[in-house]
Amino acid sequence: MRIAIIGSGAAGAVSAWLLQDQHQVVLFEAAPRVGGHVHTVKVAGDGPPIPVELGAEFVFEEGYGGLLALIDRFGIPRETDPLAVSMTMEEGRRTIQVPPRSAAALSRLASPRMLRRLAWMLRLAREAEVVADQQDWSVSVQGLMDRARIPRDVADTMLAPLVASCWGVPTDLARELAAFSVVRVMGLRLRHQPHAVFPAGGLGSYLDAVMADAPGVDLRLSTPVTKLDRDAQGLALTAGGQVERFDAAILACDWHNSAAMCAGSPALQAWYQAFAAFEDYRAQVAVHRDLRHMPAHRGLWGAANYQFTLDRKPRTTVWSGRRFRRDLFRSWLREGEAPPASTLFTADYRHIVVTPAHRGRQERLAALQGTAGLHAAGMYTAGVDNHESALRSALRVGQALAPQAPRVAWFARHVSD
Ligand SMILES: Cc1cc2nc3c(=O)[nH]c(=O)nc-3n(C[C@H](O)[C@H](O)[C@H](O)COP(=O)(O)OP(=O)(O)OC[C@H]3O[C@@H](n4cnc5c(N)ncnc54)[C@H](O)[C@@H]3O)c2cc1C
Repeated sequence: MRIAIIGSGAAGAVSAWLLQDQHQVVLFEAAPRVGGHVHTVKVAGDGPPIPVELGAEFVFEEGYGGLLALIDRFGIPRETDPLAVSMTMEEGRRTIQVPPRSAAALSRLASPRMLRRLAWMLRLAREAEVVADQQDWSVSVQGLMDRARIPRDVADTMLAPLVASCWGVPTDLARELAAFSVVRVMGLRLRHQPHAVFPAGGLGSYLDAVMADAPGVDLRLSTPVTKLDRDAQGLALTAGGQVERFDAAILACDWHNSAAMCAGSPALQAWYQAFAAFEDYRAQVAVHRDLRHMPAHRGLWGAANYQFTLDRKPRTTVWSGRRFRRDLFRSWLREGEAPPASTLFTADYRHIVVTPAHRGRQERLAALQGTAGLHAAGMYTAGVDNHESALRSALRVGQALAPQAPRVAWFARHVSD
């Protein structure tokens, strides 16, 4: 078949790699680069340039089987590190490190107020285990806190702001997110401490390797698809003012662009409505060198540093230069906030909102897969809000369109649930 793949993020690039031996694949990408939300940039300074992630960054040894298998298949060296984070609360007056990595960090947990908060956090984590084991999509973050009988002051000053700062959303929206997705994405399990994985050269290096191993794919960068239609002769795709014919198309771009592409086609109205049902929010990140976004005490710095405030959107700052001991950070900006003066890069994102209702939207999309010659792929179509979901969506495409392909069989053995 002649197949169009729209979008070269993880879902589109890996779909192309899976299909290229069986089909004639054209991969359309609106941006001038491959990767979508995987966006590694190189920052110069003292010594050699270091990789910094503008988009996806935290991938773990647990739950990322497909990603790790690809990294290893392409011989990309990787390191792992047990994840520690910092939380700054009480309007900046108290910072703790979890888990504590020094005697000083341990001593900060030893106040009656902190111990009480941590005890409730453990109680919540125990409830979260149940939701995670049962893959229970029906419970929201607020619902989980209610189940664990978390006192209001602990929910308001610590737990809801923690979730809000991770996602860069207002606290009210954080309470509505699906607890199962939050628990999975944050690795909030009691049974093990999450171990973060760092591929050499950054996350983007594995997608570069995927594309290099897909020479049969006709990759068209800076070529946004603007319209899709279906008639008796098949699919008509408009990109760069040209109309081309395809037997099948994989929409591996985001929900809002997929909706816009299908909106004008009477034959694709069910698809349009399914895409348009998804919700998102806007986020802006800045990579900078501003120490004021980090805890005052360096010994408490973590990979992710959460700042909780009651009156504003809580914030996360990632210590992007941690493996190289450099003062390089990535912060989620608050609404209307100017980037710090030392900013090197900014990026704008539309991020999917994963509430309990999200599951129903995914099921609606799943019921349409393959109809009218279309398939939808992408993180938002296939489970929780993380990178492995994008890879699972690519596997589903491979299983539908190239079930005999050796690469598909190999990938199916590795992708995590
Ligand atoms: C800021 C941020 C941080 C994240 N951090 C993490 C993390 O730490 N860990 C984790 O596991 N996940 C993280 N994620 C989730 C991340 O979205 C997934 O990990 C994954 O990279 C998504 O891949 P995708 O292929 O589904 O979509 P995308 O990466 O969004 O790819 C979609 C592609 O489609 C292209 N496109 C859009 N419209 C068109 C068009 N009309 N024509 C052609 N091309 C088009 C886009 O340019 C893009 O390249 C993060 C997401 C964001 C936004």
